[in-house]
Amino acid sequence: MKSSIDDLAVLGGSPSFKEPLHVGRPNLGDRTRLLERINDMLDRKWLSNNGPYVQEFEQRVADMIGVKHCIALCNGTIALEIAIRALELKGEVILPSFTFVATAHALQWQEITPVFCDIDPKTHTIDPACIEKMITPRTTGIIGVNVWGRPCNIEALEKIAAAHHLKLLFDSAHGFGCSCNGKMLGSFGNAEIFSFHPTKFFNTAEGGAIVTNDDALARKIRLMKNFGFSGYVDDVIYVGTNGKMNEYSALTGLTNLESIDEFISVNSKNHELYRAEFANIPGISQISYDRQEKNNYQYIVLEIDEAVTGVSRDQLVEILRAENVLARRYFYPGCHRMEPYRSYFPHAGLVLPETDKLAQRVLSLPTGTAVGADEIEEICRIIRLSVANGFEMKDRLSDSFSRELPNIGAAKELPALLAA
Ligand SMILES: *Cc1c(COP(=O)(O)O)cnc(C)c1O
Repeated sequence: MKSSIDDLAVLGGSPSFKEPLHVGRPNLGDRTRLLERINDMLDRKWLSNNGPYVQEFEQRVADMIGVKHCIALCNGTIALEIAIRALELKGEVILPSFTFVATAHALQWQEITPVFCDIDPKTHTIDPACIEKMITPRTTGIIGVNVWGRPCNIEALEKIAAAHHLKLLFDSAHGFGCSCNGKMLGSFGNAEIFSFHPTKFFNTAEGGAIVTNDDALARKIRLMKNFGFSGYVDDVIYVGTNGKMNEYSALTGLTNLESIDEFISVNSKNHELYRAEFANIPGISQISYDRQEKNNYQYIVLEIDEAVTGVSRDQLVEILRAENVLARRYFYPGCHRMEPYRSYFPHAGLVLPETDKLAQRVLSLPTGTAVGADEIEEICRIIRLSVANGFEMKDRLSDSFSRELPNIGAAKELPALLAA
């Protein structure tokens, strides 16, 4: 057991964990059921193209969310791209910079300008007061991101969208299984998207979905994800892409859906264990979830107040990594500081002060079915020891770590990148 900072692996001690502990290890359902379904699929020899497992999966998800249409897709990014196209977004679309880069890329990929908006530092979601200031005659929509599965200020977003005749799409990649005012995420705005990537709460290996109550929109999305085919015959009536979910993914999803309550209960228990530990560490606060709502508790997110802890967030990440705890700096450094956006909008940081601050404070820890009470206790012991000696740690580590946000620089041309 580590009792002094010299026992920390980053200062030469031996690591607490032999095997790395990851953020976002997949939650896996019953293997026997999974293999039964694979055998069934192989007997049937129907592997894709709206097979029976995809149809069943779409129905289950729609029922669970309480939404009319679920269109299962190959991943969350394609779900965003298709939803954006089906909603006929163009010109400029307002979204937070504090999101996974796919939210911005899905717009830029279609030559729509992502306009980055600041966040509310309390909720980490897009700040409605800032949205109003960013609306121009070219604005066609807003994408709200339900970060950590905690809903945006949906009511305020709906009001703004209605007042300015804007489309409203939600990126609920984190939000599967979560609710807002008792209604499941997935039923708000014009449409919402989910990601079923293995790092997310619920996975289909790779996968995603668009959910909506709009019949016409759902029809259009079904055409778009299948090359614009209108039926069994070779009748193409629309421009489309290949966004289909396959049967392997759908049957994985159906199997994992059967264990979803168990995943939530493990995550919720882990969340509480972490919370009890961090309640007494000054300078560290853990984000909470509204216990009145449904949550998936998939993200253990800390905010580090470096003025109090001494050690910085980045130093804590390095300390933990040396112990084989692969903590993550989520959404660092913010989309507006990634290419190509930082070249296109070199001054975006000026209107994103809260995003810049948060991207420097946030640290995410391992949870899920791969982590238990013993691991959590040890992770917290490492952090407690580091913070109790925070100013000494800061000095001893200070040379090794850069704590600057990446500079806004000139864009590298693709040929130069490829040659490098
Ligand atoms: C994961 C994620 C996506 C992309 O989903 P994929 O299934 O990985 O393509 C989009 N937005 C957010 C906020 C995400 O976290």
